[in-house]
Formats: sequence, structure tokens, C-alpha cells
Amino acid sequence: MEEDYVFKIVVVGDSAVGKTQLLGRFTRDEFFLDSKSTIGIEFQTRTVDIARHRVKAQIWDTAGQERYRAVTSAYYRGALGAMLVYDVTSRRTFDHATRWVAELRAHADKSIVVMLVGNKADLARDAGRRAVDADEAAAFAEEQGLFFSEASALSGDNVERAFLTLLREIHAIVS
Ligand code: GDP
Repeated sequence: MEEDYVFKIVVVGDSAVGKTQLLGRFTRDEFFLDSKSTIGIEFQTRTVDIARHRVKAQIWDTAGQERYRAVTSAYYRGALGAMLVYDVTSRRTFDHATRWVAELRAHADKSIVVMLVGNKADLARDAGRRAVDADEAAAFAEEQGLFFSEASALSGDNVERAFLTLLREIHAIVS
């Protein structure tokens, strides 16, 4: 069946936070131990029903470009939503979220809907591994006007919910 809408979503954040795995979890319900198997593929899609509309999410992966700080403005062009991912066990990746917000503000559409995702929540269950408090991340998200969720691409926890929230919010704007 034809879709009613196509929403371009970009996934951003530091290298190794789990961007590719989150995308794989949402679009194929898979987690690859050999993570970079999707390199070279620019985007993946999944079609979902939102408020009686068929919405195709076209989700773009940086394919490693962020390592060279070479994410181009073409990557952001036309994006209606963004997943800004950090790793809950890595303080540095959360501190860099500020930079990624600035990058989105500079290159993406003003009305882009952004979901901050603290990934690898499965690892934070072990005492001592958590490096970023959920409360602190939630406060940062609120201050910056972002949605927020912790998630685990490995267990699948909250992945579906984070992507669907983003898609519903975009749908509410464009429909
Ligand atoms: P990217 O560079 O941001 O695309 O990160 P990847 O998706 O390639 O993941 C980087 C590493 O983190 C890989 O070794 C993954 O297996 C691992 N990883 C990704 N998501 C999770 C998660 O939710 N939990 C755990 N424990 N490891 C994860």
C-alpha cells in the first residue's frame, strides 16, 4: 500500500554510542554483534500506522562520518526528526550532545523534532557503570526543547517507543 507520508529522520551522536544498532533494532528488530555490517547503506525504512495514516520512516545513519566530523549538510537536508544518541556509560558522549544540538540548529530545519536518547541502558544496571544520570539528561532535554528517553538497542527496551514518539510528534506537526 502507498504511504501517506515519508518522514526523513537523521541519527546523530558520537561514534560508538549505538546509532547503527538502534536503527537496526527499530527497522528490522535485529541487533548485530558485528556492528558495522550496515556501513555504506545510507538509510533504512519502516512503515508504521499513525492516526490512520501510513507513515514511512526513512532513517539515515551517518555510516561513520561523525568520526571525521564530516557529517555534511546534505545529511540534514529535509530531515523532520532527529535521534540524538549518547551512551549512558560515557560522560563524554553526553557532554558532546551540546555540540550535536548546535550542529542540528545550524544545518537542519528550524522545526526539526529531536529525541535525545541515552543508549546502552542495559549496561547501567550494573552499579558503577552509569556515567550520566537520567534526571540530568531529562533536565538538559527540557532546557533545549528535546524529547528524552533512555533505551537499549541490545535488549530492545524503549527503542520502539522512542522512535514512535518522534514519528507521532512529527505527524502532529505536518498533518
Ligand atoms: P555507532 O558508531 O554509534 O553507530 O555505534 P554502533 O551501533 O556501531 O555500536 C557501537 C558498539 O556499541 C557496538 O559494539 C555495539 O554492539 C554496542 N552497542 C550498541 N548499542 C548497545 C546497547 O544498547 N547495549 C550494549 N551493551 N551495547 C550496545
